[in-house]
Amino acid sequence: MNKITRRKFTKFLGASSIVYALERIAGYPTPLLAAKQKVVVIGGGFGGATAAKYLCMMAPNLQVTLVEPNKLYYTCPFSNLVIGGHKDLNELAYGYDNLHKKYGINVIHSIAARLDASSKKVLLNDGGSLPYDRAIVSPGVSMRFDKMEGYNVDTVNIMPHAWKAGSSTLLLKKQLSAISDGGTVLICPPKQPYRCPPGPYERAGLIAHYLKQHKPSSKILILDAKEQFAKQALFTSGWEHLYGHMIEWFPGSAGGKILRVDAGEMAVETEFGIEKGDVINYIPDQWAGQIAHESGLVDESGWCPVDQRTFESKIHPGIHVIGDAAIAGAMPKSGLSASSQAKFTAAAVIDMLNNKEPETTTLANTCYSFLAPDYAISVAAVYNLSGNKIVKVKGSGGVSPPNAKHSVRREEAKYAQGWYDSITNDMFG
Ligand code: FAD
Repeated sequence: MNKITRRKFTKFLGASSIVYALERIAGYPTPLLAAKQKVVVIGGGFGGATAAKYLCMMAPNLQVTLVEPNKLYYTCPFSNLVIGGHKDLNELAYGYDNLHKKYGINVIHSIAARLDASSKKVLLNDGGSLPYDRAIVSPGVSMRFDKMEGYNVDTVNIMPHAWKAGSSTLLLKKQLSAISDGGTVLICPPKQPYRCPPGPYERAGLIAHYLKQHKPSSKILILDAKEQFAKQALFTSGWEHLYGHMIEWFPGSAGGKILRVDAGEMAVETEFGIEKGDVINYIPDQWAGQIAHESGLVDESGWCPVDQRTFESKIHPGIHVIGDAAIAGAMPKSGLSASSQAKFTAAAVIDMLNNKEPETTTLANTCYSFLAPDYAISVAAVYNLSGNKIVKVKGSGGVSPPNAKHSVRREEAKYAQGWYDSITNDMFG
């Protein structure tokens, strides 16, 4: 992105949900909520942790409970740098102590089995239940095991998707370090919609960076379900500049479409024949996290339809769904989208508890992708409501310039680190 576009983008951000949330915190010392109203937030990731924290900052007299099974949250952003050997997984780990100690959030480490919209209760796996006045659900995605022949829960241990950061990320890294020079890595990205559209292509670059240094005769084949992908021209020119022909991309119509996976043979079958891999990173199709299905919050697409003015479920009033699980108009499924929606929804929830009409604001997304540890590109956009739909604001944001010098990409890699530090601090700091 050039300087003028960045400046314009910052100007747009001046009216965005981030600034809006801060204004709400400064301008509404203690909203007039009925005594001890309860909001239960499910999922302590980009959407849920941010929503819980901003609810408490905007309305300190609200009782906020966050339900999250894990004591540590590992961010997917930057997990491709772990796979490439440039970060340690521990650098991407965050605990929930600050949310409890600094903001008074009641953090419960448990799995929510489902929400019962009629009794307004969250039912926990351990048998407990939590009453709520309003609930916010941000469970992320779950993997589809019903879509591909040969792919099931056991395949994940042989062909790790690494699409949820943690043990799967480490397994993929370990497999890469075990292959010999001259080996083949298959990356198989899913159909849209899925979490982090540019993620598989960032991964290809960072794996190539590792292979170029340690196993330079190896190759990466991307067998894609799609015909095109996010930031494609920037990725392909960057790959060629950095790695020559080490990465080859095959769209669905040219051999990329996978018909069957065979974990025993370490192979996938495409319309053009059998392709074997020493490492196979099969990233399955996705839909909303399991609890959304258990709670009847999904439509026939498997994602959650919401009123895009408030993120309240169109199926069960009183429950708001944000982040990857929600159908959020033009916004991509990303960490910053989830965080931006979280602040917007926290404010809407407080207004609705006060029987006030929720205010509208703008939402934003920026997504950095690394092609090498010192080479990054980005895409940014601002969104607002057009009628009842979230649309991209015309002329907002943009993508990194094509044909830029390596020094420009190096600067973007620094901005990416700044973005990561600030968003994780915003969630957990
Ligand atoms: P999550 O962050 O996944 O949080 C969901 C939480 O809900 C989890 O902690 C889970 O344990 C919890 N949960 C699930 N079910 C239950 C239940 N029943 N009860 C209680 N808790 C539950 N985004 C960016 O903006 N920038 C990037 O650079 C970027 N890079 C990425 C790279 C990769 C490789 C991947 C895979 C993703 C990347 N993303 C990036 C996307 C980003 O990680 C997601 O969009 C974001 O995490 C979505 O937030 P969320 O709150 O919807 O889900």
